[in-house]
Amino acid sequence: MFGLMQQRPLLISSLLDYAERYHGAIEIISRSVEGPIVRSNWATIARRARQVANALQRLGVNRSERIVTLAWNHSRHLEIYFGVTCSGAVLHTVNPRLFPEQVRFIVDDAEGSYVFFDVTFAPLVEQLAPQLSRVKGYVALCERDAMPAVNVPNLLCYEQLLADESDDYAWPSFDENTASALCYTSGTTGNPKGVLQSHRSAVLHSFALMAADTMAICARDSLLLCAPLFHVNCWGIPFAAAGTGAKIVLPGMKLDGASLFELIRDEDITFCGAVPTVWLNLFAWMEQNLNTTDQRHLKLKRVLSGGSAVPRVVIEKAHAYFGATMLHAWGMTEMSPLGTCGSLLARQADLDLEQRMPVHLKQGRTIYGAEVRIVDDEGRELPRDGRSIGEIQVRGPWVLSSYFKGAGGKVVDDDGWFRTGDVAHMDQEGFITITDRAKDVIKSGGEWISSIELENLAVSHPAVLEAAVIAARHPTWQERPLLLIHRKPSADVTKDELLRFLSDKVAKWWLPDDVVFVDELPHTATGKVLKTNLRDRYAGWLERA
Ligand code: AMP
Repeated sequence: MFGLMQQRPLLISSLLDYAERYHGAIEIISRSVEGPIVRSNWATIARRARQVANALQRLGVNRSERIVTLAWNHSRHLEIYFGVTCSGAVLHTVNPRLFPEQVRFIVDDAEGSYVFFDVTFAPLVEQLAPQLSRVKGYVALCERDAMPAVNVPNLLCYEQLLADESDDYAWPSFDENTASALCYTSGTTGNPKGVLQSHRSAVLHSFALMAADTMAICARDSLLLCAPLFHVNCWGIPFAAAGTGAKIVLPGMKLDGASLFELIRDEDITFCGAVPTVWLNLFAWMEQNLNTTDQRHLKLKRVLSGGSAVPRVVIEKAHAYFGATMLHAWGMTEMSPLGTCGSLLARQADLDLEQRMPVHLKQGRTIYGAEVRIVDDEGRELPRDGRSIGEIQVRGPWVLSSYFKGAGGKVVDDDGWFRTGDVAHMDQEGFITITDRAKDVIKSGGEWISSIELENLAVSHPAVLEAAVIAARHPTWQERPLLLIHRKPSADVTKDELLRFLSDKVAKWWLPDDVVFVDELPHTATGKVLKTNLRDRYAGWLERA
């Protein structure tokens, strides 16, 4: 017997409709790319999102067509978020910090049709346009008089595009499994792979972010969104914010301590999510510029750190400077992203900071909706004893079933479990502690660097016999690449020569922080470089330097 409740599709438009109808006057604040703070609200975002939808229709954009954004965190980007998804097209946010060739690959692979870009990325767009034969047009996110002088086909002005459109548009209803957003991840080997969310997954994930045991996003919140809108849809927070009518504050391209503190103070921020590097920079600025003990009157009491393990000092300083409690979260692009979140249990809530520190340092506990387990090398589930270490697997309604276009082949097993490449143990209550990473990548300030790609480039230097790149600990960026080189007999090459050799092949922030010349690299029985051994020996190299 089936239940007799209604089958209403879970669509992103329902989140926006809610925000507009009941919380239309709640502000959306942005630090614009042009500089000044711009004040909008949910009613305006919804109205302009409908203009975006009308513009897309006029441009001939079809259901499920990919609309690319190369943009910072600001309200225009948010309007596109909703205008694209609610009308049934696919929002394809691209990370503009990637090396141009990666951006080209991603836009081309996704078959993006229109590219909406901030004027700061005009040079990048101009450089790539000749190679992006499928792109039909480029929309600069600015007013008419600020249009960049770029030579790209079919250049349009965003404000002009909207000005010509009516704000009358009825969001269509369609199958909730329709694709909503596409986000590529470089957190695995090979080319970046697309994770294609659906309306259903986005709405269910939004409910998860509203739950009291996760981010507890609610109508009383003023949310400072430091995770980029191009990183897993800013961790899904904009959608959850719409579904609660929370205030959103977007820092634009300015994530420095002074700019963020100004927003935290002036916009009564109650919740802020960021990677550890952003927290470290904010606290360093506060220490140099303010009386840090005098900021506890501010409303920021919930802070969330994710993307990398949160250092102890971040937890301590959030508590000391703001009186804020740290939520340490873990997740990944492949899971929309939230899997665990470190909200406290009843017996932990009244402990003092020092007593509950071990809890905050764990990567949070499993949330309802995301199934998380630890398995051994044979795929057998390990006991939740807080000791048994294995790879984390996940499944659930906001976990991918395959990558876009089937890249990488079958990535979940017959029961739907996806291997995350993160190594951890879990306790009885679902708290996980990440101990290692099985995937061969470096995470620097929240962004991926492929060790394999750097190694391949390094060995293409004529003096290099073998190369290995490992993640070395770094006080600000958490991890930075360290290049270990075994030179060919009698060949000579210096650190500076090698870095120069790499410098036109990768983005600047990918360049290794140091190069160590070794007599040989350790190998496994099958001939692979033994990275664990190198990590044991060299992970602290940059701290010593
Ligand atoms: P991304 O897909 O770019 O969001 O990266 C996801 C990956 O970042 C995970 O698979 C982990 O390797 C890493 N990560 C995310 N959150 C944490 C955390 N709290 N502690 C340690 N690593 C994390």
